[in-house]
Amino acid sequence: MGGSALLVRDLSAGYGPVRALRHVSLEVPEGTVVTVLGGNGAGKSTLLRAVCRTLSFHGGAVTGGTVTLGGRPLDRLPPDRVVAAGVSQVPEGRRVFSRMTVADNLRAGALGGAGGRVGRARALRRVHELFPVLADRAGQRAGLLSGGEQQMLAVGRALMGAPEVLLLDEPSLGLAPLMAARIADTVREINEQGTSVLLVEQNAALALRLASRAYVLEVGEVTLSGPADELAASDEVRRRYLGVV
Ligand code: ATP
Repeated sequence: MGGSALLVRDLSAGYGPVRALRHVSLEVPEGTVVTVLGGNGAGKSTLLRAVCRTLSFHGGAVTGGTVTLGGRPLDRLPPDRVVAAGVSQVPEGRRVFSRMTVADNLRAGALGGAGGRVGRARALRRVHELFPVLADRAGQRAGLLSGGEQQMLAVGRALMGAPEVLLLDEPSLGLAPLMAARIADTVREINEQGTSVLLVEQNAALALRLASRAYVLEVGEVTLSGPADELAASDEVRRRYLGVV
């Protein structure tokens, strides 16, 4: 504990002529929750895609900088090797495989994950303890779950890779406040179990409650960073992201 789990240094990325990230640096120390705040189009999803190496699936590319996990570079790995190295992503909009069963969605999350059969069984136990509904609905098609349950499945699927760092893209998006709070509680629990979390959110109030450290991203650049409680108290964050006038 106390080291840097995930280190992003001077990362630039874009989609053709669109420069979506410019020289972004941030750090997720081991065992912590770090959040990245920012409005629509600030570059939050691009950042997560660049870290887990899925940017090319979206027509984008990293143009500079480095990403390391525990000192190991992730920059040249294909996405499945990034999962094996210890970083799993819950993408924006959940994207569960709706025609597949809940159990098969979870199995898909274990592909590429470290730990073999024993590791997978342990990961599945953990997911079922966190989200008992996923055990109850194991044989059901994922598309039949509610929005909140699909978010649980998306988080569960990422946890099947037994990640050291979990990347979460807008987990509260489109959920009723009560369900968003439930997901937030689970993120806290996942972190207390030892998984570091990089949380991207438009719901700044929720994110700042969960995180120990926060970064503000504006038009692809980090404009503010610091302890989450300090940012939550700053006039600029209160005005722009917490809706306090
Ligand atoms: P949101 O909360 O709306 O998802 P965001 O902060 O996640 O916003 P990104 O989705 O990372 O922002 O977008 C950053 C910039 O890159 C924006 O200008 C956006 O229009 C552009 N962009 C994002 N995805 C693509 C893509 N697949 N092709 C081209 N441009 C893209």
